[in-house]
Amino acid sequence: MHKEEENLQNALTGLWDIMESSESVLMNKRSGTFDSDEMPDFSAVIQSILRDSGVLEEVETGVGVAVGSVSGAEDNAVSEVDYTAEYEMNPDPETGHTTFNDLPDYAASCRNLADVAWKVNECTLCGLCETRQHAVSGSGVMNPKVMVIGEAPGAQEDKTGEPFVGPAGKYLDAWMGALKLFRGRDLFIGNIIKCRPPENRDPLPDEKEACLPYLQRQIQIVKPKTILCVGRIAAQILTGDSAGIGQLRTKQYKFEGIPMVVTYHPSAVLLNPQEYRKPVWEDLQQLLKLIH
Ligand code: URA
Repeated sequence: MHKEEENLQNALTGLWDIMESSESVLMNKRSGTFDSDEMPDFSAVIQSILRDSGVLEEVETGVGVAVGSVSGAEDNAVSEVDYTAEYEMNPDPETGHTTFNDLPDYAASCRNLADVAWKVNECTLCGLCETRQHAVSGSGVMNPKVMVIGEAPGAQEDKTGEPFVGPAGKYLDAWMGALKLFRGRDLFIGNIIKCRPPENRDPLPDEKEACLPYLQRQIQIVKPKTILCVGRIAAQILTGDSAGIGQLRTKQYKFEGIPMVVTYHPSAVLLNPQEYRKPVWEDLQQLLKLIH
């Protein structure tokens, strides 16, 4: 087997094992409503799973060989799709590329991520500002290999102001860690909706409309190499397509020229790993090919 294919195979075997072992820990303890005092130390658990799998050691010692240009990857070249215009997506009818020409001033005027965070923290454009404890603008590095985009903050995120810090977030950390991608080094993590909808209900149209420009501006500023869009709500909004996630995830997208992979939300996989682990594993293979 070609060396690069072997590396890819190894990474994917590791990913499968890490998904399985972190699911069993997170699922056993998952109630969906941990409050911050009760929240088990999932970070330590995920770290030890990654350490046992050898991933952390490889990363720390630099032994981990980057999965290079995988032969055959060109067969999976990302193609543009025709976005249906919605929520200011404005795809170019000729190229299918989505550009953000029409950002409203409150987003367009943000010069950097700190400006976006400040505006988001002060934002009163929709009713979610009345029930939030913290707005969650997102966090991570500039020019990340992957920008992960979820739906909206949950209970833990609302409490802490940080994205994806509950069980779903720890599971996401395990997925990314298995691909040798880490917060603070390779990722920017955020959401479409920056404030928690009460009881985690689906966001309303006016909430999406008010909040999406913040994300669009973040994408322009952060300039990720790829986007990983997790879950039905984020996928429908970012593709402008109301199809189900099972259908959306099979297509390939470019979002503002950036290749985007759509997959199930880590919460959904935690609730039903038998059904969703394999498709997510396949989708993450696509992502892995795009970032190298
Ligand atoms: N689910 C999301 O979609 N985003 C978060 O930040 C947390 C849970």
